[in-house]
Amino acid sequence: MWKTFITCDKIRKNKKGEVMTDQEQRFWNRVLELSWERVKELVTTTSNQQTVYDFFVMAATLISVSNNTATVLIEENRDSYWKTNLEDIILVAGIEVFNQQLQAKYIHNFDNSEKYEEEFHTPVPQLIQTPSKTNHIKDSNLNPKYRFENFIQGEGNRFAAAAAISVASDPFEHIYNPFFIWGGPGLGKTHLLNAIGNRVLEENPNIKVKYITAENFINEFIDSLKNQNTMELKEKFRNLDVLLIDDIQLLANKVGTQEEFFNTFNALKDNGKQIVLTSDRAPEQLNGLEQRLVTRFVQGMKVDITPPDIETRIAILRDKIQDYPYIVLQETIEYLAGQFNSNVRELEGALKNIYLVSSVKQVNTITIDIAAEAIRSKKQTDKSVISIDDIQNKVGNFFGVSVKDIKSTKRNQDIVLARQVAIFLTRELTEISLPKIGKEFGGRDHSTILHAYNKIKNMIESNDSLRMEIEDIRNKL
Ligand code: ADP
Ligand code: MG
Repeated sequence: MWKTFITCDKIRKNKKGEVMTDQEQRFWNRVLELSWERVKELVTTTSNQQTVYDFFVMAATLISVSNNTATVLIEENRDSYWKTNLEDIILVAGIEVFNQQLQAKYIHNFDNSEKYEEEFHTPVPQLIQTPSKTNHIKDSNLNPKYRFENFIQGEGNRFAAAAAISVASDPFEHIYNPFFIWGGPGLGKTHLLNAIGNRVLEENPNIKVKYITAENFINEFIDSLKNQNTMELKEKFRNLDVLLIDDIQLLANKVGTQEEFFNTFNALKDNGKQIVLTSDRAPEQLNGLEQRLVTRFVQGMKVDITPPDIETRIAILRDKIQDYPYIVLQETIEYLAGQFNSNVRELEGALKNIYLVSSVKQVNTITIDIAAEAIRSKKQTDKSVISIDDIQNKVGNFFGVSVKDIKSTKRNQDIVLARQVAIFLTRELTEISLPKIGKEFGGRDHSTILHAYNKIKNMIESNDSLRMEIEDIRNKL
């Protein structure tokens, strides 16, 4: 098995102070994550979800995973809840992380556990997790899955990762404040942002961290206007120690929210609180955002993430395949790394597809042929679901051009660009023939369609911002 790339990092411990292995940590994080989803399904009253989760899930501790058994420490009267409602989660997470069908074993203290006696020779542990810590983690809205430990570094992200680790290790009046991370889709911005938050909370359990997407910030703000409790919202944000805000480009053209965000930003910044922002484009390309905001965003530290080179893609694949119950040949890894060169999310998607294909075919060694088949089927499903209408609409929205204009014969520069981009995406993402595409674009002939396609294809070779814009639209489809 390949060793996971671990960045300068402390060893993590479970609640009783024992060292958890990377895999145990990953397994338990996954159990916590899935359990939260489960509790939300089981408990319909929102206000009770947290209580139930804390009582049954957060109060449990993973002792170890060994001999096909996950040993969980939980108070006596609470294990029946696990047996009834959560046991299959241990199975799922076990398969995902260990490729094993784990049994769950519940223990109530260490004294009567022979296994424990054998394996650990330390005194009976105390459950030291305080409710406030639990709430801080939950309130933070962080995804426990995204950590520095499983963020593979390479040329394109090394500096961003180093700066993020630096901010996380000292979130109090760090000189990188605000810390602005930008880069194309699927390159790990959300991952790094969460990793910062997770690290900060690990090291300072009592400080208030919040992860929020700009989209949810907008929604919360609009809700608070409706419910006339903007003051509460203001309070909530201004009491934070660390604010992590994702996909800031979504604030474009939202004037009211920008104003509110500007105030929150200033209040936090003036009090020396750490702010980290991500954006899918460079600050200077944040159209629709007020200049004073953009200026403040880049007053601290600005880093960008660029697509991973082949070595990094191979390293990422090696790390991620450890989660899957199959063996991937080295040549297959190299093949896959060559197929996807600009987006780590796509690499991950390929592994999921391989998992499907390998389960159907019941093979556990992934050859290049199987991998090729799996990505082919993925590409085909991708292609069949996207319609021309959808593409025309999304492209139109993006460029502020109507679908009618896209189909028209108008030659204004922005209309022509939108039209050509829509044609490009149609050809890339669907199986529709050139004549049919021509028909759907206002009755153009197939050579015009081909010309438009080639034009954009050439342009994005050298024009990074156009390439990113098109990626952006593609991700919305
Ligand atoms: P972005 O926010 O930039 O669009 P994400 O952070 O959501 O991208 O990353 C997409 C997926 O790829 C996530 O599952 C993330 O864990 C993974 N990923 C991206 N970069 C890396 C990396 N360097 N190492 C490991 N996983 C990565
Ligand atoms: Mg993201």
